[in-house]
Amino acid sequence: MGDAGGTHPTAPDPTSEREVHGVRVVIDRDLCVGFGDCIAEAPDAFELDEDGVAILTNPEEASKSRLLDACATCPVDAITVYEDGVAIIP
Ligand code: SF4
Repeated sequence: MGDAGGTHPTAPDPTSEREVHGVRVVIDRDLCVGFGDCIAEAPDAFELDEDGVAILTNPEEASKSRLLDACATCPVDAITVYEDGVAIIP
């Protein structure tokens, strides 16, 4: 729970949480096991970081349907998508 990087404690990390296509995509870094299913589905939107955990790259480049498919494909439900404050995935 440290803040060694000096980032603002209340600002969401845009690589783990992003508003895009009218939804909010949140990656749980503790749940991600790095198999890359989401990346295979939407390579524009996700990649693995140096820790082998999925991060958001350019999700606006993927179509909304492809982005949602990619989020839904996660085998461990590490990606949550909220629309109007309601979780629609998983
Ligand atoms: S599909 Fe899920 S577990 Fe696999 S890399 Fe993406 S977020 Fe991580």
